[in-house]
Amino acid sequence: MKHVKLALALIVILAFLALFSGTYGQTTVTSVIVVRAGRLFDSEKGIFLSARDIVIKGNLIEAVGENLPIPSGARVVDLTRYTVMPGLIDAHTHLLYLENPSGGLTAEGVKAITMEGTPLRALRGAARARTFLLAGITTVRDLGNSGRFGDVAVRLAINEGSLDGPRMYVSGPGLSPEGGQFPGLQFSYRGIAEEEYRVVRGAEDARLAVRENVTYGANVIKIYSSASPNPGYLSLEEMRAIVAEARLLGVKVTAHATSDLAISRAVEAGVDSIEHGYRAEDATLKLMKERGVALVPTYLDSVNLKRLYAIARPNRPRTEQELAATLKQRYERLQRAVKGGVTIVAGSDNYIDLNVPQGEAAKRVLFTYHDAGMETAQILQSATINAARLFGEPRLGVIKTGAFADLIAVDGDPIGDFSAMERIRFVMKNGIIYVGQP
Ligand SMILES: [Zn+2]
Repeated sequence: MKHVKLALALIVILAFLALFSGTYGQTTVTSVIVVRAGRLFDSEKGIFLSARDIVIKGNLIEAVGENLPIPSGARVVDLTRYTVMPGLIDAHTHLLYLENPSGGLTAEGVKAITMEGTPLRALRGAARARTFLLAGITTVRDLGNSGRFGDVAVRLAINEGSLDGPRMYVSGPGLSPEGGQFPGLQFSYRGIAEEEYRVVRGAEDARLAVRENVTYGANVIKIYSSASPNPGYLSLEEMRAIVAEARLLGVKVTAHATSDLAISRAVEAGVDSIEHGYRAEDATLKLMKERGVALVPTYLDSVNLKRLYAIARPNRPRTEQELAATLKQRYERLQRAVKGGVTIVAGSDNYIDLNVPQGEAAKRVLFTYHDAGMETAQILQSATINAARLFGEPRLGVIKTGAFADLIAVDGDPIGDFSAMERIRFVMKNGIIYVGQP
């Protein structure tokens, strides 16, 4: 009898879920939109094409070509004055964490966990998510520091249409050596770090951590090859176990790694990409190229760096020479990776509060790449097709038949004038227009 009541209750709940889940973010009639692009970026070939028409049906691109016939009843969006490209992808975000630059990593992190809490972080993350969309970033890969699966909640709300935001790949808590990234935290309070990171203790526990994260909604695994600025490393056995379990569950693995040792160990263990990779030596870059491991270089550009200095060190401003020296070192590191043939995937890691909308600040990572001497086409590929390939999603990062209708338009020619990337005039995600002629 008890079972019958339970079963009845379950049926009622499921009926309600079915009723309400169908009502968000869905259009009853499949709409057809024709976007007339003045110029089009072909991300696969890395070239700009002359005028093209893009036929969009529902959330997918149905056709791309020159002077296509307009289907009857289709809405025409005239972007002939603009350059159209796939929606940008930021492969390294932290939507649920924003740090006061004067506060310091541990103090700010502990505050987020103990005083802000996951629900409020998710709400704030939702507001930040919208700024990415408005900046032309239609997909993000959110890599931890999101409490206990707050990132999964934001993704669900976006996908069902309750919130406006980019597509999200989310990692849940990053798999870390002892202590996470909170140097100075007292031993008695190690549990605080374990609210934010999934501390791994041995290869079997590492497998379990992957299963946990994927079960509770992660669709990418983030690991800390080393927990810099803390001293610990994951063992090779732990990382190999993580990679094997992730392969089994069909998700990719990306590794936070800043020192050459942390990078080379993660590559050795078989990860798909390296985050930051600041101090990779040439031999390690060579290994990355050989194994097809992508690099996500997360550098602030000159504009963001100046903003940071102005906020964090108002009384001790850096001279132009100091700024130039810092930037030169970053450019040199990036150039070595590009020359070494390593696949570059754009990622901002923009978790610092610079008093500008998060998405706006995040997009400036592309300007770092530009200032470092990367070709415009290479930069745009890093933020479209390269990211899509890393994520293993052929419908992303490309404008062709069958791809997701994620498009942006910028005012100007980014080859001649890269500042065109600041002038976003149109944003469509999944066939829905968020910027320009909604
Ligand atoms: Zn990060």
